[in-house]
Amino acid sequence: MFGKARLKLTAWYLLIIMLISIGFSTVIYKVLTAELNRFSHLQGLQIERRLSGQEFMSPESRFRNTPPRILTDPELVEETKQRLIFFLVIINGGILVVSSGLGYFLAGKTLKPIKNMVDEQNQFISDASHELKTPLTSLKAALEVHLRDKRLTLADAKKLIKENIEEVDKLQSLSEGLLRLASYQKPNNSSKFEKVSLASIIKKSIQKVKPQATKKKITLKDKSQNFELEADQYALTDLLVILLDNAIKYSPKEKSVTIASEKTDGSILISVSDYGIGINEKDLPHIFDRFWRADFARSKDRAVGYGLGLSIAKKIVESHHGKISVESTPGKGSVFTVRLPVKHKTL
Ligand code: ADP
Repeated sequence: MFGKARLKLTAWYLLIIMLISIGFSTVIYKVLTAELNRFSHLQGLQIERRLSGQEFMSPESRFRNTPPRILTDPELVEETKQRLIFFLVIINGGILVVSSGLGYFLAGKTLKPIKNMVDEQNQFISDASHELKTPLTSLKAALEVHLRDKRLTLADAKKLIKENIEEVDKLQSLSEGLLRLASYQKPNNSSKFEKVSLASIIKKSIQKVKPQATKKKITLKDKSQNFELEADQYALTDLLVILLDNAIKYSPKEKSVTIASEKTDGSILISVSDYGIGINEKDLPHIFDRFWRADFARSKDRAVGYGLGLSIAKKIVESHHGKISVESTPGKGSVFTVRLPVKHKTL
């Protein structure tokens, strides 16, 4: 598909360049031949005047008494025109060859970001369908098995419905996660960016994760300072909630999670640290990938999630032209650090 589009775009580039080049060559040809005719005519007149003795003639030309061949000879004029056409054709041929190569190269460059975006979207759709298909298939299978069971009691049916509702809740959170990821994947929309107070965003985020922390008796420590920055406050709250939620999710009971912030040369650093299970070194390069989860997270007593949180977090940070990084020691804990510019850069 992109091979064809590349060829088509190259053909359009060529058509435009050749139209300009041929038009330009026609103008050059017309101007030069008009000038040639004018000079030839003027020289003819001059020679006629010389021959009729109206003008001074050098002894040599009087001796030769023949008009110089230059420009007065119609054959020479025609020959000059032919040579001009020949050179213009050669030049246009050269332009055609060079612009074909250049056009093909530029068409590839122009289409590359579009191709990457389409590939990315296709990958997203196939990942999303895969993630949705697996739980839906097992849900359907469980329903079918129970439907065929002639001895199914009301109590069994109620238990099944309850389990199914839990599964549907999880699927709902998966589809919400997918929608959030898709919305942050959209091209930059700077209209949501405004001056916001970091302290109030951190406060809001802490409020949102408080129930999970209380359940696990985890202490949330706010060591942040207040700074103003240009950001999308809803996205920034989303980002901090994801990091805090993970810190709680992947920490044993009764530990603490700390959020801190500092300002360094035009950037604001926000860190979320925990004393949780940590991340293996081999897993670190993958944690921001869509649907990626560590083996532990996938295990039987896994923490709830679909491996979308950190990829959403990364998209939010990128939309703010920031950077997200992680340092982690297995068994000891992790520190996620977000660097955001104080002023939002509009592209
Ligand atoms: P989810 O939490 O839904 O699995 P995320 O994208 O938020 O998805 O995280 C991806 C994976 O990164 C998690 O499954 C977990 O293995 C690992 N991870 C993320 N945050 C932490 C953390 N604070 N401590 C340990 N592991 C983490």
